[in-house]
Amino acid sequence: MEAMPIALTVDDAPSVFAPGSPDFDPGRMDRVREALQETGVRHCVAFVIGERARDHREPLRRWLEAGYELGNHTEAHFAASRVGADAYLEGVRGCHALLNELGAFDGGRRAYFRHPFGDRGAAGGAREAIDRAIAQLGYTHADVTLNLHDYCYEAPFIAAAHTADAARQTRIRARYRRVADACVARAGKRGAAHWGAQFMHVAACHFGPLSEHELGGLVRDLGSRVAFRPLAEAIETPAYRRLAADLSHNGIAGDLLHRRLRDRALRKLARSTRRLGLFQQSRLGPCWPHLAP
Ligand SMILES: [Zn+2]
Repeated sequence: MEAMPIALTVDDAPSVFAPGSPDFDPGRMDRVREALQETGVRHCVAFVIGERARDHREPLRRWLEAGYELGNHTEAHFAASRVGADAYLEGVRGCHALLNELGAFDGGRRAYFRHPFGDRGAAGGAREAIDRAIAQLGYTHADVTLNLHDYCYEAPFIAAAHTADAARQTRIRARYRRVADACVARAGKRGAAHWGAQFMHVAACHFGPLSEHELGGLVRDLGSRVAFRPLAEAIETPAYRRLAADLSHNGIAGDLLHRRLRDRALRKLARSTRRLGLFQQSRLGPCWPHLAP
C-alpha cells in the first residue's frame, strides 16, 4: 500500500495555554520538537501566537534551527468574525513582526498563515479585506484538512493531572491515540474521494500535553502508512489551492469530510442529546470528537 502523504503542522506555539495559566509551558514546544526529531519527521510547521511567544523566543529559535518552519497564527488568537477586520489585521501584523525578528522567513522559507479556529472573518467585505491584506504580506493560507482533535482532550487531561489521577491520565492518552489514528485513517479514505486523488492532507494538532506525550507514539504507530511531506508540497496541489481560495468556506476544512448523510444525522443527534453527555464524556474526552456538536 502506498504511504498517505501528510503535511504536519502544530498550532498555538509555544503553548496552547495562555501565559498566566498554571499550564502555560513554552518548554513543551521543545519536547514536541524532540519527539518529531526522534521519530524522523523532517517537516513540520508550527503556527505561532505572537503574544504567547514574545517573551519565550528560545523554543522557537530551536525549532527553526532543527529545520522546521514557523507560521503566523495572529497575535492574540481572536476569531476573525468576532473582531473587526482592522483589529484582526493588527494582530496579523503583530505576529508578522515577531516572526520577521526571529528570521522565520529567511533562507527561502515560505510564509504561511493560519486563521485561529479556521475562522476567515464575517462573510462578505470583511473576509475579502482580511484575505487581501494577508496575501499582501506574502502569506499563503494553510487550511487544516485533517484535524487530530487533541484539543478535545486537553481539559480532561489537565483535570486528571491536577488531581494526580495517573490512571485516568493513561486512559485519556490511550483514547486520544485511538481517536487520532482513526482520524488519519478516515481522512485518508475520504480525502481522495472528496478532493481528488492528488490531494495531500494538512494535519493539525496543538502545543498541548496530548501532543507532548502522544505525537511521537502516533507517528511511530502510523509508520509506513504515512509519509510526512513539506507543507509547500501540499499547498501546491490544485485541489488544495482551490480549497484555500474558496472564501465561502469557513471553519476547519476537514469538517467538509463529515458532511455525509450518516454523519450529518449523527451530529444532529449529538446536538439534541448534548445534555445527556453521550458525545461529551468529559471525564475522558469524547469517543467521536469529529461528530461532537
Ligand atoms: Zn489556534
